[in-house]
Formats: sequence, C-alpha cells, structure tokens
Amino acid sequence: MNSADVLSLCKRRGFIWPAYEIYGGIAGLYDYGPLGTAMKNNIIEAWRRAYTLGEGFVEIDSDTIGPEAVFKASGHVDQFADKLVTCTQCKTPFRADHLLKDKHPNPGALNFEELDAEIAKHGVACPDCEGELSRSEEFNLMFKTTIGPGSAGRVGYLRPETAQGIFVNFNSLLRYMRERLPFGVIQVGRGYRNEISPRQGVIRLREFNMMEAELFVDPNDKTWPRFRDVRHETLRLVPNEPGDKEVVMSLEEAVEQRVVANETLAYFLWFTQRFLIMVGVDAERLRFRQHLKNEMAHYAADCWDAEALLSFGWTEIVGVADRGCWDLSRHIEFSKVDMSVLMRYDSPVEVEREVIKPKFNLMGPEFKAKAKLVGNALEESDPKEIKGDHIVVLVEGSPLKVDRKYFDVVKVKEKVPGERVVPHVIEPSHGLDRIMYTCLEHAYTEKQDKEGNYIVMRLSPISAPIKVGVFPLMGKEELITPAGEIDWTLRMNGVLTSFDDSGSIGRRYARMDEIGTPFCITVDYQTLEDGTVTIRERDSTEQVRVRKDEVVAILTSLLCGSADFVSLKAK
Ligand code: AMP
Repeated sequence: MNSADVLSLCKRRGFIWPAYEIYGGIAGLYDYGPLGTAMKNNIIEAWRRAYTLGEGFVEIDSDTIGPEAVFKASGHVDQFADKLVTCTQCKTPFRADHLLKDKHPNPGALNFEELDAEIAKHGVACPDCEGELSRSEEFNLMFKTTIGPGSAGRVGYLRPETAQGIFVNFNSLLRYMRERLPFGVIQVGRGYRNEISPRQGVIRLREFNMMEAELFVDPNDKTWPRFRDVRHETLRLVPNEPGDKEVVMSLEEAVEQRVVANETLAYFLWFTQRFLIMVGVDAERLRFRQHLKNEMAHYAADCWDAEALLSFGWTEIVGVADRGCWDLSRHIEFSKVDMSVLMRYDSPVEVEREVIKPKFNLMGPEFKAKAKLVGNALEESDPKEIKGDHIVVLVEGSPLKVDRKYFDVVKVKEKVPGERVVPHVIEPSHGLDRIMYTCLEHAYTEKQDKEGNYIVMRLSPISAPIKVGVFPLMGKEELITPAGEIDWTLRMNGVLTSFDDSGSIGRRYARMDEIGTPFCITVDYQTLEDGTVTIRERDSTEQVRVRKDEVVAILTSLLCGSADFVSLKAK
C-alpha cells in the first residue's frame, strides 16, 4: 500500500478529492466529500470535547483575515518564509531544502549561500526536466490581500495559523476568565500558507484545517494538577541529542531528567498522544521528536512534534511547544496595549521602589502654564527611562525633554497586591488534515477472499463517518419495514447509519468495510420470529444476535468504547 492507494480510495468513496478538478485542479487545494466531512467533524468533536469538557478550556472563533500589524508583531511578515529555487528551463518552483532531503542531514537549517553550495556540490538539477536551478531566494508563505477598496484599503493577510486570533483577544479572554491563570483557549479553523510546491496529497496544503490550543500559564509555575494522575504513563521520545535515539520514558522521568522542559508541556504531550490514538492513529507508528536546537524558534523554551509513520516516512502531525512569553510580549510591544496579569499574593506585601518626584517650585518659571502637566508626566514615568541628565516625557501627545534639575528620584514604600507577569504559552497545534490522513492510512488494510482483494478501513469508531450499516437480509417488504424502524431509531439517537437493501449481503458488508463502518445490523427471518437481529463487527467479521429493542443501547456503548464486542459475544 502507498499513499496513491489511500488517496484513490478517498476519492472513489467520497472522503477527499482534489479541488477544482473540472478546471484542471490547483496543487495544494483539496475538498472534503460527504464521508470526509463527516469524519473531519467527528475528529474535531472528539478534540473539542477533550479540551473543553476534559480540561476546562474555552473555545473561540476569530477572523481568518487580519491587518498587517498583527502579522508584523507575530513575526510572520518578516520571518515566515521558505527558500525557493526555480528551474531555469521549465520554470517549476521547488523548496530548496526539500531537494537536499537525501543529501544533507538537516537542510532546513542551511542559509542561502549554504543551500546554493550544497545544490552545486551534489549537482542537484530540476527533478522534472533536469534543467539548471536558480540561486535560492526567500519566499514569504502568507497570502497577501487588501482590506477595503482603493487608497483607503489596508494591507491584510489570510491567517497562516489560528493562534494569533487568540493572542490578540487575550485581554477580553482574561476578563472572561476572571483574571486568573492558568487558562486555556482553543480554536478550530482554516489556515492559509502559499506553499512553494505542495506534494504528498493532503500533507502539504495551501489551505488547511487547524485545531490549536493556547494554554496561558504563570511563568513561575509550570506545574499541572493532573500531571500526578498520569505521571507513570509513557511517551515515545526522540530527544534532540546526537544520534536521534528513540527512548520510551514515563512522564515523570522525562521531566525529572529534564528531557521535557516542564510538567505542563509533558502533560500535553501525553494528552496529545491519547487524543491521536483515540481517533485512530496507530500507537506503534507514533512518536514525539524534539526540535533540533537550530530548528527551534529562538523564543521557544522547548518544542516537540508528534510524528506519524506514513508511506512518506515520519511526518509531523502536531506541534507541541512552550512558546515562553514571545507571543504576548510581541503584541504588547507592537500594539502598546498592556497584556500583563496580576498574580495576587496571599496578602499584600510591602516593597520599596524608586519613583520620580518633580520639583514643582523650580518648574513654574520654565514650563509656565504646562508645569502641572509636565509634573504629572514625570510622576508617571519610570526612573529607568532617565537618560544621563534628562528624561523624555509625553506632554499633550508631544515628546518633551526635561532636565534632571527639575526632578529627584526618591525611594517610597508601598503595599503591592501581587506581581504583574506576562503569561507564558504552551501550545499544542494540530494539523487536522494530516491527522485525518494518518487515520486513513493507518486504517487501510488489504484483505483477500474468494472473490479477490478487498479493502477494509479499520477506522476508530470515534472517527468513522458512518457508524452502523443497517440491512434487511432481502429486499422484501416484511424485512425492509423492521430494518427501516431500527435505522430511524438509531439516527434519532444520534448514530449516523447507512441503510442498504441492494446486492448480496456480502457485497453490502464489503461496501461498509471499505468506508470503515465499524458495525452492521442485519434483519432476517429469525427477527420476525423472535425479535432478534445480528450485529457484525468489521474487524473480526464475527456476529452476535441481540434483541432488537436493545440495539440502540448496545451500539451506543460499543461506539463510545464503554463495551467491547468480545464480551458481548461471550454473554
Ligand atoms: P506549525 O504552526 O507550522 O507548527 O503547524 C502546525 C500544524 O499544522 C503542523 O503540525 C501540521 O500538522 C499542520 N500543517 C502545517 N503546514 C501545513 C500545510 N501546508 N498543510 C497541511 N497541514 C499543515
């Protein structure tokens, strides 16, 4: 099996297909069909519930388009770029580092000169036509646009991640959370990145779906209350040490041995792992790789990628980072809006601090009618802003240089209620399309029967788009009617079904297996005699007879994992 097999099934059965196909398609743009949309929504809902119900996070929904100032502050305008080379013959663009993937251990860390030198050294040519490649240049990945018409229009960008929408709303969120840390916020939505050469199906898209969580914590306290409960759980880690050695460690060991920076980060690595396995990522093909020192953003205290083993090799599907105070500090700096939080002491503490005391008696002759305003501005200034023999203050919106002889610096004692801090951010950032593709590829199983090869998608019951197939054994009215009643009851209880009365029962099971439907119910002639139906499980293909009035309760517990098929059979 390779990714082409998975993508072909996805297209044929209506999970995912290339967008705008009637116009020839556009690389990096895919649409979700009916089954894909249902499956995507199931994954989102499982994620949403884990964070909101499980951890008390709140959810917001912010704009996908933003003014330039936001992305100046976030660093995306100046730094969110890949290195581009173009074929001088066929003009196809490529990511320079991708062309060196098999030739250099870490091509992503090379600068322009180094990339050009490596390309020359290895004689790398255009993979499509073998033409000569241009020198590498910078290419910003954001989609630029104009907000509003004509000269009134402002430069704007489609968001490259959902996270900034949470950071810019921090003060409103803090107020909503009653001014207390820690608190967490999630957001699900589209992100846009003008990738240079999107390949590998839905792994690298130009418009993609993200599920991001931002946890705001006190920088002086990165413990997490529920860490204790899961400290003996294990993680498969590849720390950024020479040799890329994989280790399996308990959360407790990872924090004690400083492999993972702190408890909260370790907890959310485990939380991410649990979620991924729950929606159908194979635990044996999942690991966390720490960013290399030269790969880690300069502000990040620690950063790990959840990687899944796919037919393309190990692939990042989630990034989990301790981003320090970078995001909020940058927005404070660029917007000039205070976003610090008062961490209250148990009781107010007396502290000594330096303040500026204006000499009002000397100021009158110099500043005349403005003396009071200048004095007030001096009182509000921080002594740290004094430059040698003067300080610059703002008076009626204009800067004013005030000589040192007009003020003193004195020590005062005061009671302070707490310390103001800029919160740190722990961020699990999920690429939904990559998670979804991983679930599909990990579920893909080829089987053989007497009629030949067929495909079973072993999707987790949580992600599977259709939960139950409902079949009358034959297309006869006396079987169709009770089967239709069961189908209706299941749907009215929130279980998405597929009713199918055409073709042999074997064909109908196979159709359901191919789209990952975990259970099928068949109504047969025995149903009319004793009121029982069969439930068939997809992976074992085993069947059990149950009373039809128990079907909803049994399937609901099978689907949420509170009952298992083996014990049902043993009853
Ligand atoms: P990042 O902000 O780059 O760490 O991205 C967060 C997550 O989004 C990654 O872990 C990926 O799963 C996903 N992602 C990033 N870029 C793309 C893309 N071009 N197409 C699809 N998913 C992406």
